[in-house]
Amino acid sequence: MEDTIFMKIILREIPADIVYEDDLMIAFLDIKPVEPGHTLVVPKKVSRNLFDMDDETASAFIRATREVARAVQKATGAAGVNIGINNEAAAGQVVFHAHAHVIPRFPDDGLKSWGRGRPYASGEAAAVAEKIRAAL
Ligand code: 5GP
Repeated sequence: MEDTIFMKIILREIPADIVYEDDLMIAFLDIKPVEPGHTLVVPKKVSRNLFDMDDETASAFIRATREVARAVQKATGAAGVNIGINNEAAAGQVVFHAHAHVIPRFPDDGLKSWGRGRPYASGEAAAVAEKIRAAL
């Protein structure tokens, strides 16, 4: 087992505000929440991120994340919920033990999910779509 900070929480070596646990998953409050109720859903079986997770774990992960997100929304009275998975440092991943962020959202809360957006240049969308199709 890798020695991630989340494994320490799973093993009860450090404390956390655990909101859900079963054989495969654990969910606890993020220590630095974007909003109160910001929760991390973590498979107990270590994988670096979504890409090296086995199918059974990935399936349990999405089911647990959906259930936790429902509960976070209900408990906080949020109008919506962002579910985010950061894969690799370039995407903001800091803890290399796969996890999903569940973030309650409110109208005009000022949080920008995506920092920017720009229209495609002529032909750019078709080219990148073709590359993605070829990669699948
Ligand atoms: P990442 O950027 O890897 O997707 O997110 C890691 C998250 O883990 C961060 O939002 C950070 O606040 C949270 N985190 C880091 N260390 C701890 C900890 O010891 N306990 C808890 N509950 N959350 C942590």
